[in-house]
Amino acid sequence: MSCANHDHCIDAALARAEAICARVDARLTPIRREVLREVWSNHEATKAYQLIERLSRHGANVKPPTVYRALDFLLAHGLIHRIESLNAFVGCEHPQKAHQAILMICERCGDIREEDDVAVRDALMTLTQAATFSARTTVIELRGLCRGCRSTH
Ligand SMILES: [Zn+2]
Ligand SMILES: [Zn+2]
Ligand SMILES: [Zn+2]
Repeated sequence: MSCANHDHCIDAALARAEAICARVDARLTPIRREVLREVWSNHEATKAYQLIERLSRHGANVKPPTVYRALDFLLAHGLIHRIESLNAFVGCEHPQKAHQAILMICERCGDIREEDDVAVRDALMTLTQAATFSARTTVIELRGLCRGCRSTH
């Protein structure tokens, strides 16, 4: 876990989601909120089936399509990122601003850290414009070892 107080991370993520949805007049329904909370239960990649399992554990009858629809909503509003290489999801650290998500994924402990960099964003923009390519996804996935794992191997 790459944070000192994870309850704070979860609370902050839910508060950001409420604010963003209110601004664009979208409804953060209870199931969407629960799915977001579960994605934020740690700083690691979460797969859809894990969400379905965890949400069902609370006694609710959670159907997979409901969870997939909630994930689509959260993706559409930039509240989570899809990690293509893992077919999984992670909460976005700063959904309130346009950014280039650069995910640093630790292959040992699974910790994911999100960074944004204006220079990288500009370089990609220049590159894709020059190639007249319209990028649909812009998440950059970097895989390796986090600081903690590098110092304890
Ligand atoms: Zn945290
Ligand atoms: Zn992000
Ligand atoms: Zn690690």
